[in-house]
Amino acid sequence: MTQKSKDINTKCVHQGELPVDQYKSAVSPLYFSTAFDYQDQGIDQYPRYFNTPNQIGLNQKIAALDNCEAGLVFASGMAAITTTLLGLLNAGDHMVVQNSIYGGTYNFVANHVNDFGIEYDYTNGLTATDFADKLKPNTKLLYIESPSNPMLEIVNFKAVVELARKHNVLVVIDSTMGSPVNQLPAEHGVDVIIHSATKYMSGHSDILAGTVACSAKLRDKIAKRAKMLGGNLSDLTVWLLDRSIKTMGLRVTAQNNNALAMASWLEQQPKISRVHYPGLKSHPDHELAHAQMCGFGGVVSFELDQGISAISFLNKLKLIKRATSFAGVESTALIPALTSHALLTPEQRATLGISDQLIRFSVGIETTEDLQNDIAQAL
Ligand code: PLP
Repeated sequence: MTQKSKDINTKCVHQGELPVDQYKSAVSPLYFSTAFDYQDQGIDQYPRYFNTPNQIGLNQKIAALDNCEAGLVFASGMAAITTTLLGLLNAGDHMVVQNSIYGGTYNFVANHVNDFGIEYDYTNGLTATDFADKLKPNTKLLYIESPSNPMLEIVNFKAVVELARKHNVLVVIDSTMGSPVNQLPAEHGVDVIIHSATKYMSGHSDILAGTVACSAKLRDKIAKRAKMLGGNLSDLTVWLLDRSIKTMGLRVTAQNNNALAMASWLEQQPKISRVHYPGLKSHPDHELAHAQMCGFGGVVSFELDQGISAISFLNKLKLIKRATSFAGVESTALIPALTSHALLTPEQRATLGISDQLIRFSVGIETTEDLQNDIAQAL
């Protein structure tokens, strides 16, 4: 069976299984060793080289999930993002970066990449024309995030890839909000697919990790830098992440269904002025989302009426937890202006549409009636 012919759930459960050991266990064993026989394995097998048995297995699973040739698993989403950019770009290179992206990535680009001699421009929007407007002769990479965090805007993969091919530059996506269950950017020609595996891949709010999937050629480039930066994931956590991914297809499907139900319900609530969810017909990018995604994810953002204090609203929730991060099986909520996007200036947040009234709601797998009752009593 080719990688592509396998259903997502089959890949989640079986891809990357280690060869049957002497005990014929149903689950891959954990090789908790930092040292390996150099005569058998060569001198190059070492956790920081991303090639222990468990890392190799999970790297293969990540590649298969994102329909790519190769994968790499990192110690965090930010390790995956920073190592990829520093691996693919050299001093003197320029990149065009989507303006509405995760706050940590925004901060890395705005405050750190210049130290490495890398130039950048932020776009003014999410269309291919917005990216084209910022191209320079030394542009080597376009960086996108879709759906974007926390406004859930959608980038047109096909249009951005077409632009990139014309100018011979790479496209890198942070696909965390989509997950490999809901979108496969590589199918549209995106070159490098990154996830904060802390989110849907882990799914239980207990693992910090990141992944990269791409061609073997690009993987080798990124891995060369990765070995020096040392952002590998410990083998115990590699094993735990592999276990978590086995249920990712089921979890994300349940979250897709719950989030759509919650978004439709939230739209009817008088004290909520606006709901952002690509699965809603009212979302400006709904048609595009429908065309390039097969589910819309578990995150819904909504704006409370001006008269309601966002902090008091969150404090009154009983079932939905106040928490950073998203995509766990338990529902959580936060105020982006005070947490994920607190490092941006108020002006930068205003440009991106992130108001102080905005709540980012990560819908878990609970019964939607219980979630609705919780929000209704808090309102
Ligand atoms: N990308 C997105 C979209 C995120 O939301 C986050 C974290 O919240 C990251 C990347 C960074 O991932 P990590 O916290 O695993 O380093």
